[in-house]
Amino acid sequence: MVNIIKEQKGNSITVRMVGSVEESVEFEQLIGPVTGELVVNCKEIPRINSVGVKGWIKYFQVLQQKGVKLKFVECSTAIVEQINLISNFVCGGTVESIYVPFSCMGCKGEFIGLFKTDDLRKLKFQVPELKCSKCGGKAVFDDIPEEYFGFLER
Ligand SMILES: [Zn+2]
Repeated sequence: MVNIIKEQKGNSITVRMVGSVEESVEFEQLIGPVTGELVVNCKEIPRINSVGVKGWIKYFQVLQQKGVKLKFVECSTAIVEQINLISNFVCGGTVESIYVPFSCMGCKGEFIGLFKTDDLRKLKFQVPELKCSKCGGKAVFDDIPEEYFGFLER
């Protein structure tokens, strides 16, 4: 089940999607009419499967054709994976910020950090180390840069 939390500001609608996208979700019905701009917060989408992806692309393609400006923010690692796998996953939209996986060198704990895609480009994908929230140790990026940030070079 996906819950949509919607906020409208003038010509811009921001939706927060909460839950796994694992069935055909009635995005159109849940989100309602969109003109202008749609900002999609993907922070709370832990999973998306092939059925979910199909419906996702179908929905956003229609908006793209209508000239709606699409922005994807706070993309979860599951969403970043799809953006990398499927070239038209964001249907012409922009990816503004993504979560990046980290693992701690000390306690082996895993966590995620939020980065703006513009900043990642400036850093040339050299993700800075973070301080582990559990033990205060050094935490480093825990994926393959060429794969995880591949979509940013398209
Ligand atoms: Zn730690």
